Amino acid sequence: MENLWDDAEASRFEGDLGLRVYTSRLLGRDKSLVLHGGGNTSVKTREKDILGRETDVLHVKGSGWDLERIEAAGFSPVRLDHLVALSRLPSLADPRMVNEMRTHMLRADAPTPSVEAILHAILPHKYVDHTHADAVLSLCNSPDGERLVRETFGDAVVVIPYVMPGFDLARRCAEIFPREATPRTQGMVLMNHGIFSFGATARESYERMIALVGRAQAALEARGAWRVEIPHEEPAPGPLRVAQATLRREVSAAAGFPVILAAHRDAESLAFARRADVAGVATRGPATPDHAIRTKRVPLVGRDVAGYAALYAAYFEEHAKAAREPKTMLDPAPRVVVDPELGVCTAGRGAAEASIVFDIYAHTMRIIARAERLGGWRALPAKDIFDVEYWDLEQAKLRKAGGTPPFAGEVALVTGAASGIGKACVASFLARGAAVVGVDLHESVETLHARPDFLGVRGDVTDPAAIAGALERGATAFGGLDMVVLNAGVFPGGRRIDSLGDAEWDRVMRVNLDANLAMLREAHALLKLAPRGGRVAVIGSKNVPAPGPGAAAYSASKAALTQLARVAALEWGADGIRVNTLHPNAVFDTGIWTDEVLAERARHYGLTVEAYKRSNVLRVEVTSRDVAELAAELCGPLFAKTTGAQVPVDGGNDRVI
Ligand code: ZN
Repeated sequence: MENLWDDAEASRFEGDLGLRVYTSRLLGRDKSLVLHGGGNTSVKTREKDILGRETDVLHVKGSGWDLERIEAAGFSPVRLDHLVALSRLPSLADPRMVNEMRTHMLRADAPTPSVEAILHAILPHKYVDHTHADAVLSLCNSPDGERLVRETFGDAVVVIPYVMPGFDLARRCAEIFPREATPRTQGMVLMNHGIFSFGATARESYERMIALVGRAQAALEARGAWRVEIPHEEPAPGPLRVAQATLRREVSAAAGFPVILAAHRDAESLAFARRADVAGVATRGPATPDHAIRTKRVPLVGRDVAGYAALYAAYFEEHAKAAREPKTMLDPAPRVVVDPELGVCTAGRGAAEASIVFDIYAHTMRIIARAERLGGWRALPAKDIFDVEYWDLEQAKLRKAGGTPPFAGEVALVTGAASGIGKACVASFLARGAAVVGVDLHESVETLHARPDFLGVRGDVTDPAAIAGALERGATAFGGLDMVVLNAGVFPGGRRIDSLGDAEWDRVMRVNLDANLAMLREAHALLKLAPRGGRVAVIGSKNVPAPGPGAAAYSASKAALTQLARVAALEWGADGIRVNTLHPNAVFDTGIWTDEVLAERARHYGLTVEAYKRSNVLRVEVTSRDVAELAAELCGPLFAKTTGAQVPVDGGNDRVI
């Protein structure tokens, strides 16, 4: 375990809360300690309220904040005496507990305090740190885990048997801790859950956490269970995109909504997925309650999604009867799928969620491998997992949840994505919640957006191998394909037919027509598997209904493309795939239209640049964004029953109307 404390860095943080922010971030930096909002920290202070009265305050991490990026505003100030008094109640339902915490905060706009706030309050130390450290979980989740934990930590920690997080856990700790703590106590291990450390200063509490987790790591090392060899594994040869999209379609069907299904085929994931005993170890349960909520009870091993959903429903039936409160069943789709060929696939309502699920499961895989070395991975009993998964607080969140963006869980591919209309399309689809694969000849596409739901692929759409490669990479990253925007195209300078050479004609046809045929052909198998039906938006041109002199190759290529799209609409209707075309005109905020070209064209018509830009029926300027928004809408629910249509986006053209 590396101690990341740095005096120079620490000196930039002021006061008790400032140092609390600093060491919380240090914990958050180490993913083997804290993952995605897991873990929490606190500091106790004495402050004067507005009337000058002295008040003891617990500043505890608020929900929705991640330790790695936390700021002072991410800590909720709660009256300490009230929290301590609550811990003496014989019982308190968790939603009531949250209400008590929220109504005893000193700042109305503070986030909801962590559900572990009472636990922090009852520990008689100024600073308290809590993590779900991998090394501690490996020790806990092994045969004879409690003995191992006691042997490892001696009297440095108080050991608390497993109790579900929430009020009952805080109350149990309030009973056991004062009875068992000694002057040598530096922390507390919650079996099958995680570890606490505490101290008089931020540094002491943090360094004790590092030292305690270091001890757990050393105990694993001594038993040959820390560094687990990863055998070399080769990904399966050949394209996997149709298999991946088939699996995503089934997971989406079980969930009742489209999901992103990200595949991970790194050596560690493949080694885990190909373990001879994978079905045995993977299905025993999660490493800590914190993970149970986000990765679901157990992964699906293999691809029998329907079988998994049936088992999940049976598990719900069995345990829901015994629950105190009525429960609403969660969707029965797996969040993690472990398959020897597809690797470890993780599902989420968006790419960010799928990526969090993978991060958590990657740690679970390591914890399992280590606990196996200790004699066998043990998880919590199914009833305890059910209690966490169907916790009142989680159920309340479920009831409140709503308003997902229209393309949540869906995947769009845009060609010519690095600039102009294509770049605007990427933005419009991202804004509607889709994950987007942007393809472009220009390398800038690779860095167009640094976010988990965008994949930029550099490639030439006239090269069939590049098309196949982009579809394969898109399916690996996001699981399949729901929407395609055929945008890449070229617009050569004006040339009349009497001087139009074959080479130029061929080049325009290759990019504007042939490449789109190849893309449609390759994408069809994936679009057919789209959970809500595939959609294609084709960027045509005003030149289709109203061609211009000097643009023979361009106009002919876009007319042929429009005809191709109409045939695709006819052929693919039975597969639930919609194909619609839009015809933009005079979109001047794209790369082709430099200021000089614009000025030259305006002069040609005897107009100012402004008047030239608006020379249409409505006298409006048409922007890339206007075209992109229409392309996205054509793929949306408004046009759910429209296919084979051609919609102008040109401000009205008197030759077309
Ligand atoms: Zn915890």
